[in-house]
Amino acid sequence: MSAKTNTAIREKYRRALAGRLGIAPEQIGLFWKGRVGLYAILRALGVRAGDEVILPAFTCVVVPNAILYLGAKPVYVDVDANTFNLETGLLEAAIRPQTKCILAQNTFGLSAELDPLLKIAQKYQIPVIEDCTHGFGGAYRGQANGTLTQASFFSTQWNKPFSTGWGGFTAIRDEALAREVQKLEEKMPMPSPGQERMLQLQIWTRKNLLTPALYWPVLRLYRRLSNMGVIPGSSEGSELHTTTMPKGYLLAGGEVQAHEGLLQLSRWERIQERRLEVAALYDQALEKLGLPRLFVPPHISHSYLKYPLLVKDRAAFFALAVRHRIRLGDWMRSPIHPVEENWEKWGYVPGACPTGEHLSRHVVNLLTDLDLTEKEIQRTVAFLDRYREEIFESPGHY
Ligand SMILES: *Cc1c(COP(=O)(O)O)cnc(C)c1O
Repeated sequence: MSAKTNTAIREKYRRALAGRLGIAPEQIGLFWKGRVGLYAILRALGVRAGDEVILPAFTCVVVPNAILYLGAKPVYVDVDANTFNLETGLLEAAIRPQTKCILAQNTFGLSAELDPLLKIAQKYQIPVIEDCTHGFGGAYRGQANGTLTQASFFSTQWNKPFSTGWGGFTAIRDEALAREVQKLEEKMPMPSPGQERMLQLQIWTRKNLLTPALYWPVLRLYRRLSNMGVIPGSSEGSELHTTTMPKGYLLAGGEVQAHEGLLQLSRWERIQERRLEVAALYDQALEKLGLPRLFVPPHISHSYLKYPLLVKDRAAFFALAVRHRIRLGDWMRSPIHPVEENWEKWGYVPGACPTGEHLSRHVVNLLTDLDLTEKEIQRTVAFLDRYREEIFESPGHY
């Protein structure tokens, strides 16, 4: 470790994360954002110009960006309407000699069905990276998400399983690869004191102003300021418009993030327990209404970052939700969220993955956060009951 990144608080955070995942601290890399962790993994795997990386056509634009920054090509595979992850049956046809790795994704905190995917990857000797940005806390066959594949990356951005404002980390299984990723982390600069202070201020603002009571007025103001460029959003504007790496992209995780991360991990059980409770309540409500519920095979523990629901007319459903003051999430608005045009720039051909496109036109997310009150959950359930006709009868029903 170089002196600059070898600060006690960061190492404490690294150990805490490793402890949670049941791996060694040397296997954890700390980055300013999850996407930077993904970039480091791809680079450590030797991904470069001419290579191809397979990913689900229902992801966040920063994922193909990390691939494109290395000159490689994102190859989209359509998703399964039940799991919101890559449809394994379509995987083999996408594999070519140039395929360097495959991305699996814990979309909405639904742990990925890994066995069939890993079997195909093994057959072709291709490493798998798990996008665990939604999946911290979930498990597959009793093993923590992020520890079943060669490498994985997590996000601690706003609205992710736990938040440090922005932030991300990697978990690498293979020792040599872990050393490579750690070397890349060491080479990256730390956030500047100004960036650290800005992040601290945003964390404070979020905690103290974005309380449930102030949610609606503050959200409107925040979005407006963010659009005006007054508040830096999670994705720099350029990341949504171009596929070249923005200046200052390569940053290691900072001390504010480590401090906040340790605080959040200390209350992790409560956060996770609450998500499971709330998801179970939605589940019961949907069952009562005769509506489709999430697919949960017995060997999978989901972490339920969100509870997705497919609605017939999304814009109309959102308008109803705002009218009734029901908070809803809008992931994924596009196969490469949140980009809604010029998909070719990211190597996505419109129409190529009809299920990913369909889901992104019809999905809304019920929230499962710790700050939801019983009353808000009851109001949400009553809302679903009242507008039952607006909800699709089954995930594949279209
Ligand atoms: C949030 C997110 C990321 C990126 O995480 P950051 O920490 O914001 O870089 C990657 N993939 C998915 C599916 C995400 O939702």
